[in-house]
Amino acid sequence: MNRSTYSSLPERFFARIHPTPVAKPQLLRFNHALKLEIGLELQDTSDDALAEAFCGNVILPGSDPIAMAYAGHQFGHFVPQLGDGRAILLGEAVDSSEVHRDIQLKGSGRTPYSRGGDGRAALGPVLREYLISEAMHALGIPTTRALAAVLTGENVFREGVLPGAILTRVAASFVRVGTFQYFAARDDVDAVRLLADYVIDRHYPHVKFEPQRYLSLLGAVIGAQASLIANWMHVGFIHGVMNTDNMSVSGETIDFGPCAFVDSYDPAAVFSSIDRQGRYAFGNQPHAAVWNLARFAETLLPLIDENPQRAVELATAALAAFSTRFAELSLAGLNRKLGLGVREDGDTALSNDLLDAMHKNGADFTLTFRRLCDAAERDLRATDVRELFANPEEFDVWALRWRARLGREPLDPRVRAAAMRRVNPAVIPRNHRIEQVIAAAVNDRNFEPFVALSAVLSRPYESVEGFESYANPPQSGERVLQTFCGT
Ligand code: AMP
Ligand code: MG
Repeated sequence: MNRSTYSSLPERFFARIHPTPVAKPQLLRFNHALKLEIGLELQDTSDDALAEAFCGNVILPGSDPIAMAYAGHQFGHFVPQLGDGRAILLGEAVDSSEVHRDIQLKGSGRTPYSRGGDGRAALGPVLREYLISEAMHALGIPTTRALAAVLTGENVFREGVLPGAILTRVAASFVRVGTFQYFAARDDVDAVRLLADYVIDRHYPHVKFEPQRYLSLLGAVIGAQASLIANWMHVGFIHGVMNTDNMSVSGETIDFGPCAFVDSYDPAAVFSSIDRQGRYAFGNQPHAAVWNLARFAETLLPLIDENPQRAVELATAALAAFSTRFAELSLAGLNRKLGLGVREDGDTALSNDLLDAMHKNGADFTLTFRRLCDAAERDLRATDVRELFANPEEFDVWALRWRARLGREPLDPRVRAAAMRRVNPAVIPRNHRIEQVIAAAVNDRNFEPFVALSAVLSRPYESVEGFESYANPPQSGERVLQTFCGT
């Protein structure tokens, strides 16, 4: 492991701290494929050695562990100091293309940023983040990854007594919008500049030699987030806690807390128990993102122009690009989901009308699009899309328009259906499946459902024989109504 480049920044950016040892580490899962992909070299890859290294009991050669400082707006309220309260950055791996990735333990003990917390993580949320982050990756969406999950052999105390665990995650970097806010709130413009330069070198090297590099950085982060949120919405993902400390400037999905996937399509869907106002509801995510990006822009103002008025004008113009970009990406994605390659004027209305009909009729988001793939190559009546709608005739009316529209597309129906199957997943990490995995692990130390679900989610665009039930929405008794951070 390499020492993290972040630890070369000035001391006020982080705290040097070692993980707190745990009693009896036991390896639950190690992602060997990811280890190879990121170029991580390990001397000893026995289960015991991996457990010792990825619970923090053994510090790997080259590692120089730190906890990063950050701040953030949580549900709209600014908290000037948050930071890695239970995470420790061990170091970096560098792959064969010289891409650096940060390797971080989550649940590794108290740090100077822990505030009242115990610095630990419970098994349930660790398995949740492992499954969902890897599923996001398999879906083709930028995300932090999961390298390891280790049981600590210690209990943590939440609403009750729970088994403790540690997740090792891998990210392009762990710099958040809230990291910029930490320094901006202290009027530490030098630190904001150092951080911006660090982020440019690491994530957006193409802006380095532009005349307005910090404005270009803002534009690049806005573009990355517009793309990320559009991607989320195309698979029905709700992050659940889009606070500025949970928004990565690299454009990866980060901090999987009470996240969820919609079953029946509903733009107002909220699962997180702490999101009482629906601030981060499914359909609000683009608005939440642009709000966060405005907070990011504020931190960069002194770097954008020395004339404050001019800086605000430039940043405002950059932020305005979000909605145009998002609308474009959203339409492009929906068109791909519907098998449309050529752009026509009525396309936005066509996809919006399908979404409206799905909402009104309680149709399952994932299944509707997946079954449309079959419908694209077969007679509609022979498929089972319409039965997903409470009133199937509302689907029929829409489907006539879609059929007519497909008639103006050049592709062979089979080729089109195959392309649609590459963007409309058969399986997503359904909330009830995740809960079943956690219940078996926590109550019975049975990790078989975890392993089985991991395998299914690694190939989300394939209809795998024998795994049909994983594609199904919850039965009424299985429905998950709320999700919890479990912190
Ligand atoms: P999160 O809700 O996970 O995004 O965390 C928000 C803030 O609370 C971050 O600064 C975390 O490091 C901190 N935090 C969450 N859980 C704990 C915990 N168990 N111990 C210490 N800090 C925590
Ligand atoms: Mg967080």
